[in-house]
Amino acid sequence: MSEPLSLYLHLPFCHKICPYCSFYKHTPGKTDFTAFIDALLEEGRRKNEELGAPAIRTVYLGGGTPSLLSEKHLSHLFLGLQEVFDFSQVEEVDLEANPSTFHLSKAQLFRELGVSRVSLGVQSFQENELKALGRDHTAEAAAESFKLLREAKIPSCNLDLMFSVPHQTEESWQDNLTQALALKPDHISCYNLTYEEDTAYFEQFEKGELSDDPDLNARLFTLAHETLTSAGFRHYETSNYSTPGHHSRHNLSYWEGRNYLGLGPSAVSTIKSHGSDCFATRWKNAPDTQRYIQQIQSVGHAMHESEHLSEEQFNLERIALLLRTDTGLPLRYLPEGVSWQMLLEHELATVSESHLTLTRSGALLVDAIAEELAG
Ligand code: SF4
Repeated sequence: MSEPLSLYLHLPFCHKICPYCSFYKHTPGKTDFTAFIDALLEEGRRKNEELGAPAIRTVYLGGGTPSLLSEKHLSHLFLGLQEVFDFSQVEEVDLEANPSTFHLSKAQLFRELGVSRVSLGVQSFQENELKALGRDHTAEAAAESFKLLREAKIPSCNLDLMFSVPHQTEESWQDNLTQALALKPDHISCYNLTYEEDTAYFEQFEKGELSDDPDLNARLFTLAHETLTSAGFRHYETSNYSTPGHHSRHNLSYWEGRNYLGLGPSAVSTIKSHGSDCFATRWKNAPDTQRYIQQIQSVGHAMHESEHLSEEQFNLERIALLLRTDTGLPLRYLPEGVSWQMLLEHELATVSESHLTLTRSGALLVDAIAEELAG
């Protein structure tokens, strides 16, 4: 296998569980971190061999809160990864961090270990919104943590913000954007809060204690677009804004349909399988840290479910993902006979010889349009 690989590691540990979060995560409890990291490295070793030792293109440590690992454990993990995988062509190493989980020496260690991009989960600069989101840091702590990343000379720093948070108004969202810009990040992600199953917020939503207002969502989305593009950011994906050269290469590899290998509990992998009956294989690891460690130790993998994707299924997935980008969807991914004329008539999209690209009004309806186009 020669195609370079994107590598994802899931570190499911958080000090406190946020009520809106649907990722697999838990408090560290009595987890043996050394055993956990050894399991990640063992899984990596086996998969690397099975896949023919491809060069790694991007690495992403997500979760969970990877930045809560101790310096000792971070060093163990990174040095182990560099031994297992071919990092000679790595373009980007991302790490998700939460405010107040690191100090300057840990931020400097991120850099020494090769981290080139840190995503800081700030979510809001308003204390009442942070409280509603169940975050365990203040706005001031978030700003301080961001400054530490700069002091440690992390080459690319992203801030994650969230809109349509309970109590949020257009004024408070504008203030969040202004405070984010004042820190001069290289990249800002703005996620619309959604109510996902199996979260505390979903239960409250079902009981009518929380509500979703599509008109407010649209106004806050537009406010972010106007504020951030006026400040020189490129709105290159529905939820992502970048200064030149600072877009997420790792996320781009998902949208473009490149091969990715996920290590850790609940991690997903998708690998195209040239020359066999199916176009691509996808598998997911068991979403259970203890079981993950035990399975890696006993049988060498923790695969929990898997599926084969046909080329048609694979291309249909590209529709939903690439329509979210400002480069648009290559027309070759659209099923035969699908018409996009209505989108042009309603000024929801523009079309070139090779791509269909959503306008700003279209971007507000991206999920519905993707569903329609996929048939
Ligand atoms: S949002 Fe982040 S910090 Fe909060 S529970 Fe989820 S992974 Fe942990």
